[in-house]
Formats: sequence, structure tokens, C-alpha cells
Amino acid sequence: MDLLKSIPKVDKFIKHKTFESCSSKLITKVAKEEITKLREDILNKKIDSFCQEELINKTLKAYNQIIKPSLQKVINATGIIVHTNLGRSLISKKSFEKAKEIASSYNNLEYNLEEGKRGERYSHIVKTLQSLTGCEDAIVVNNNASAVFLVLNTFAKNKQAVVSRGELVEIGGSFRVPEVMTQSGAILKEIGTTNKTHKKDYENAINENTSILMKVHKSNYSIEGFTSEVDLKDIIEVAQKNNVIDYFDMGSGHMIDLPFGLDEKEPSILKYMQYNPSLLSFSGDKLLGSVQAGIIIGKKELIEKIKKNQLLRMLRVDKLTLCLLEEHLNLYLKNELDEIPTLKMLHTSIKTLEERALKVKESLDKVCTCEVLQSSTLIGGGTTPNKKIPTIALSLKYKDFKPNKIEKLLRQRNIISRIENEKVLLDFRSIQEEEIQELINILTEVFK
Ligand SMILES: *Cc1c(COP(=O)(O)O)cnc(C)c1O
Repeated sequence: MDLLKSIPKVDKFIKHKTFESCSSKLITKVAKEEITKLREDILNKKIDSFCQEELINKTLKAYNQIIKPSLQKVINATGIIVHTNLGRSLISKKSFEKAKEIASSYNNLEYNLEEGKRGERYSHIVKTLQSLTGCEDAIVVNNNASAVFLVLNTFAKNKQAVVSRGELVEIGGSFRVPEVMTQSGAILKEIGTTNKTHKKDYENAINENTSILMKVHKSNYSIEGFTSEVDLKDIIEVAQKNNVIDYFDMGSGHMIDLPFGLDEKEPSILKYMQYNPSLLSFSGDKLLGSVQAGIIIGKKELIEKIKKNQLLRMLRVDKLTLCLLEEHLNLYLKNELDEIPTLKMLHTSIKTLEERALKVKESLDKVCTCEVLQSSTLIGGGTTPNKKIPTIALSLKYKDFKPNKIEKLLRQRNIISRIENEKVLLDFRSIQEEEIQELINILTEVFK
């Protein structure tokens, strides 16, 4: 009973100097909860003593847990450049500066400054995309998933959309091509088999209710062996002959050729544009390296129709997206590719990665055992399935700790590593140059 009596009163408790800088409203709420918990524990005989200091610490911890931002910076040492779980692409610092100004001031988002009247939200990126890709027109929505949905809903609602069985893929667990197609109102017409689809399959599938021939990038899988798929070039030819639309969901669109010979299997947006497709869509934050967005480029009359679809209002992008994207595309136009983190990571030489790894190794040699290794990593984001690129990693050993124990220690300090062949690896392909010192500092603390 004495114990119950010694429980502090909330009003008095929160006056303690530990809580001086806390919001009084929030600390009152948290303290009430902690004190209630304490009272219950005493009544249920779970505890038979408590000290004031412990209660103060518990309350402060609970308070800090609430106000701590949930979204935090991490160091991506997985090697995967386009890592969807870690936020995909890093926005270039330059684009971000511009976006800061636009975000905190009024702007001409939907205002035509020359004519002094209502303008077009999507106009801001059209010119840039035209200059870059040679497209007639363009539109941007929330992400590429919405782009696919919008295109199909605009052109294939209650009409037949023809797609190869080999391309009915599931991407990232939440985007299943056949389901998205059905939801959009399109009547899915599957052609070919899992491993083989021919040009004549497209030709034979077309009837008077067919509106679109769709091609989907396989993204996260590839089939080996006896396979054949129809090139976009041929699909476009069949579509034009039959007066239907061709549409390619490119997934991760890249503007310039990929290194390491990957460009052979994965042509760039510019290469595909040479075939004069009706419609092409791709993500803004995969290999393009910008903000989350879905970009649709193609024929003017078709983009006009998309703009008239009511759905666009629900998928429309914010001024920040448009600003970041315009700035980003300008970097391509001005050939300032070094400003684009995704491309920078992709193109860093093995020698440079090795130098960075050695620097970290030298700083850590006294505290743990490290070894610089040649390795390989995926680019990620479904960009180049099964195709790895060379990289340099640092393997970490500490006392007799198991790999997953080390991995967890690092993760608790927001360093995301990967375990391969029983080794904890820090992969330098996805670590930023300016993060190296920070990485050394954290690791020195972890392994002290
Ligand atoms: C990634 C991907 C999508 C989804 O794009 P988001 O921008 O993530 O919405 C759609 N189709 C393909 C082929 C993809 O690779």
C-alpha cells in the first residue's frame, strides 16, 4: 500500500527538470500512461519496488520514441543501386535546391505566365522530354504502375489488349500485370506460351475489338533456354498495319546506354524511340534516377486522349514531383550526368571502389578484421534480371560474432549490409563517396 502511495502525481512528476524541453501536452500524456502502467504492475504484484529515476528514464524514452522521425537516413551497403525498400533513387542535390524554392513559394504550376490565364500542369516537362527523346507529347503520373493503369483504362476499356504469356509478370509482390490489366477494364488476350511468342501470334490475335498490343518488360525474371519473344519493333509494325495502338511498359527506363555490356539486352529509351512507338511508359525513380513518377511518352493524339481521362485527376503529380523531374531531365539535356547519383554509382570504376574500401579497411584494422573482396551485385528495381555487375566489398569479422549478429549491430546504426557465403559484406557500389567518413565513424563506435 505504501508503494501505491509513493507513486508520483502526474502534474508534479512532469515538472522534473529532465522534461524541461519536452512539449508539456505530449509529456503529460506519456507520463500518465507510464504511471498507469506502474500502478497496474504494483496492483498485479508484478513488482514490489520502483525508483523515481527509473520512471523518469522510461517516460523520457517513451516520449523520444514518439517524436523521433520514423523515416530515417540509412547507408545502403547492400550494393543494390535501385533498392525499392531503401527509397530507390537519390535525388541530385542540384535538383533538390530548385525544388526547395518552388516548394516554399507560389509558382506557375497551372498558370500561363505569358497569357495571364490558367495553364497546364503537365506542360512543364513536355518540352524537356521532347528535346530528350524526340517524343511528340508526354504526361507524368504518380508512378509507372498508374501509368500502365491509365493507358489501359483510356484505350482498352471493354476492348481487347493483347499481351504475351511470357510477359504476364508480378513485380515487387504488389503489381501483377494480368490483375492490373483486368482492373483497368481491359479484356486481356493472352498469346503465345511462357517461353515462346511469335510475331504471327500478335497478328492472329487481332480482331475488330482489339485496341492495343502491349509489351511488358520482364523486369525481375528471365527465362533461359528455348525462348523467343517479339521485339518492340515488330510489335509496332503489326500494330501499325492493323491500325491499333502499340504500348510498351518499359519498367525501368534509362536514358543513356548501360555500362558493362548491359545495353545490348537492355536498350535505352532513345533506342526504342527510333522505332516510333505509339506509347512508352517508364518509372521516374528506377534507372532514370529521379523522383517517384510514371512517365508516358508518345503520339500527341494519344496523350491528348489520356489527358481527358477523369482518372488522371486521381493520379496527378504534385509540384514537387514536376519540379524535381524537370530539373533532373535538364541534367540529361545539359549532359551533367555526374550530378545524377544513380548514374554515378553505376559508372564508378572498380579501382575507385577499391580505394574507398581500402580506406575504410585501414581505419578499421585495429578494431575488427576486414578483407577487400571482388564481388558482383544486381542493379535492382527489376532493371536487369540475372545480370550482375562487378563491385568491391569489404567483409567484416568481429570477435566470434556470427554474421547475422554483426549485420544486426550495423543495422541498429542504420547501415544496411548484406550477407553472402557466411560473410557480412559492405558493398561499395551503393555507398556514396561522402558517406565514407561517416561509415568509418559509425563502424569504429560499433566495434570499439
Ligand atoms: C517497376 C515496374 C513497374 C512499376 O513501376 P512503379 O514506378 O514502381 O510503379 C511496372 N512495370 C514494370 C515492367 C516494372 O519494372
